[in-house]
Amino acid sequence: MKAVIVGAGMGGLSAAIALKQIGVDVEVYEQVTENKPVGAAISVWSNGVKCLNHLGLEKEVAALGGIVDTMSYVDAHTGDTLCRFSMQPLIDEVGQRPYPVARAELQLMLMNAYGIDDIHFGKKMVSVTDGPDHATVEFADGTTATADLVIGADGAKSLTREYVLGGPVTRRYAGYVNFNGLVPIDPAIGPATEWTTYVGDHRRVSVMPVAGDRFYFFFDVPMPEGEPFERGTAGAVLAEEFADWAPGVQKLIAALDPSTTNRVEILDLDPFHTWVKGRVAVLGDAAHNTTPDIGQGGCSAMEDAVALQFAVQDHPDDVHAALAAYAAARTERAGELVLRARKRCDVTHGKDPEKTAAWYAELQGEDGTNILRGIVGNILGGPLT
Ligand code: FAD
Repeated sequence: MKAVIVGAGMGGLSAAIALKQIGVDVEVYEQVTENKPVGAAISVWSNGVKCLNHLGLEKEVAALGGIVDTMSYVDAHTGDTLCRFSMQPLIDEVGQRPYPVARAELQLMLMNAYGIDDIHFGKKMVSVTDGPDHATVEFADGTTATADLVIGADGAKSLTREYVLGGPVTRRYAGYVNFNGLVPIDPAIGPATEWTTYVGDHRRVSVMPVAGDRFYFFFDVPMPEGEPFERGTAGAVLAEEFADWAPGVQKLIAALDPSTTNRVEILDLDPFHTWVKGRVAVLGDAAHNTTPDIGQGGCSAMEDAVALQFAVQDHPDDVHAALAAYAAARTERAGELVLRARKRCDVTHGKDPEKTAAWYAELQGEDGTNILRGIVGNILGGPLT
């Protein structure tokens, strides 16, 4: 069986490794000319780590991952700790430690695992077509690639999705902007092995460790869509937006490098259940575009990759049956994660201010039980449970 994968993000590369692992002849096409991921880092929750372990990357991801032993919530203005608790009950329950990982390093790890020299860079897909015997992708340079199946892992603005659904979709602005980057670990911002989150004013400022003594940080700022922003000015913007926040937040703003700080408007897409058209299927953000509020978009893409491997393994001679099994295994689970993230997003960012105020009150003195239960609920339910 031959597969063409369009998109060398974390979804496409995980799928490429997964299919190669079971002997599928895989070709990967990527529009960019080099490895330049957007965003600083992600938290790979235990379900995502289990997928990477399954792909043979256990040591590699552990080497890149930050160690998060505790979680805490901190009052935005006073800097008082509202609650702090161990991650160990979660690790014990799901059987795997989560790892925050720098994006560029995760991406390079996946590229090397697949074979970076085998990725066809600079190939922008402009159309995909399905036929009785094969599917064909056409690129902007006029060349084509043909295979028994095409996996569109072409991200949130997927062209493959448009083909599979028979037309374009409109994504939804979630109401906030996320600024993110990496800074050296500094205990004045948060403890070195803790995921620390400052909350207040319907905003959130968070730091968590990644390998190399760095914190991945992000700021969530509710604001209208399409506000002007000049790259390089994040420090000044955040200093103004968070002027009256706690000293740890001021330290973070002073430490960040404005030239490498990313600013992302957060959008998502209503779940949909048609993931396959003939020999063409979507995977990753192309199939389920979520807000990052539960840190599951990339993990879900990794789950897709493993589910696709299982489906092809179960139907080695029947592409249509394999893709149907893949979609059946994934659409409900992935859609549920999108909706869970949307719900979390609304509470965090003050869609209903009373609910957000109630959440702040709950955090005071919380022993972690409720929060960890929610995270375990996100983690469980994938192909490797
Ligand atoms: P992408 O990573 O977008 O990759 C798609 C690839 O396809 C790109 O390389 C692109 O260049 C290529 N491509 C697109 N169109 C074409 C074309 N026409 N031809 C050829 N190539 C094409 N997830 C988590 O699990 N944990 C987190 O903590 C987390 N935090 C996040 C924080 C933020 C601020 C955001 C925005 C997202 C976060 N996510 C997180 C989600 C995660 O980043 C995505 O779910 C993940 O990147 C999806 O991977 P993907 O491979 O499907 O898509």
